[in-house]
Amino acid sequence: MSATAKKMKVGFIGLGIMGQSMAGHLLDAGHDLNVYNRTRSKAEDLIGRGAVWCDSPGKVAAASDVVITVVGYPRDVEEVYLGPAGIVAHAHEGALLIDMTTSSPDLARRIARAAVTRGMTALDAPVSGGDGGARTGTLTIMAGGSDEGFARARPLFEAMGTTIVHMGAAGAGQHTKMANQIAIASTMLAVSESLAYAEAAGLSLGQVLEVIGTGAASSFLLNGLGPKMVAADYSPGFFVHHFVKDMSIALAECERLGLDLPGLALARRLYQRLVDGGYGEEGTQALYRVYTQLMGVSDAV
Ligand code: NAP
Repeated sequence: MSATAKKMKVGFIGLGIMGQSMAGHLLDAGHDLNVYNRTRSKAEDLIGRGAVWCDSPGKVAAASDVVITVVGYPRDVEEVYLGPAGIVAHAHEGALLIDMTTSSPDLARRIARAAVTRGMTALDAPVSGGDGGARTGTLTIMAGGSDEGFARARPLFEAMGTTIVHMGAAGAGQHTKMANQIAIASTMLAVSESLAYAEAAGLSLGQVLEVIGTGAASSFLLNGLGPKMVAADYSPGFFVHHFVKDMSIALAECERLGLDLPGLALARRLYQRLVDGGYGEEGTQALYRVYTQLMGVSDAV
């Protein structure tokens, strides 16, 4: 911990692919950590490093000054914050609540309102940068909520991320994350189609990635997930089912805004095929399965 950073009592709920690494950085930064996860075994490593297990989100909240959550779906966020054994019912006055799950802007605003009525502050602060960014503490963090809440959260964000931006009022972090996911949706189509074309043309896919990965088509996703597509390595960094959740939230927001985004709609449709085919627990690079099937290389989907 730096000389100016203050040690805080931090609660962390949701210790999956992202949460485990993020919580670990807070321990490394010298904060006290109270943890809860639906499946307790995922907390064992952190407990071994000094974190304290609590039996419910409410118990984490009661023991902490700041509570951070990285769970799965909006329904999990709602249960963890607004349920009877949840954070808002059990945190103490003055607590800072930070949801870093990718969730809906509307739910973020509802939680912020519920928090204010109990004398607490809530931020929505979803992240980008993948499991790698979580591991290396280099996430991009986009926050919505009050200036005061953001200022208090900043030292914690700095332990987990490198690009940290206050986007506006409650819900603005989630709206920014939707803009991020919309860009990813069409990029994943583009990466898959590029490789499908190269494969159909009989090129060496490794060579194609080497070449186009340094030219104008280069991107984080092409360079990071392209090689996994080529190796048919569909192990999850970011689950297909979570991405379908994100695109569904974005499409619902588009409907509310009267906005038609055909790239996003197509990506959701193709990813839904993966879920229907039983591939929801794979990583988002599994989109390439849809294209190999379309090319007749495999009948997997
Ligand atoms: P994950 O591995 O499924 O982690 C979610 C964790 O939350 C799981 O350990 C789960 O418990 C726990 N959880 C869910 N509901 C809970 C509840 N009601 N009470 C307590 N714990 C609960 O998923 P992830 O990849 O870490 O992603 C987490 C969130 O970050 C998602 O919203 C995702 O869209 C977003 N995100 C992910 C990435 C990425 O690259 N992975 C990047 C940016 C954002 P169990 O252990 O019982 O399943």
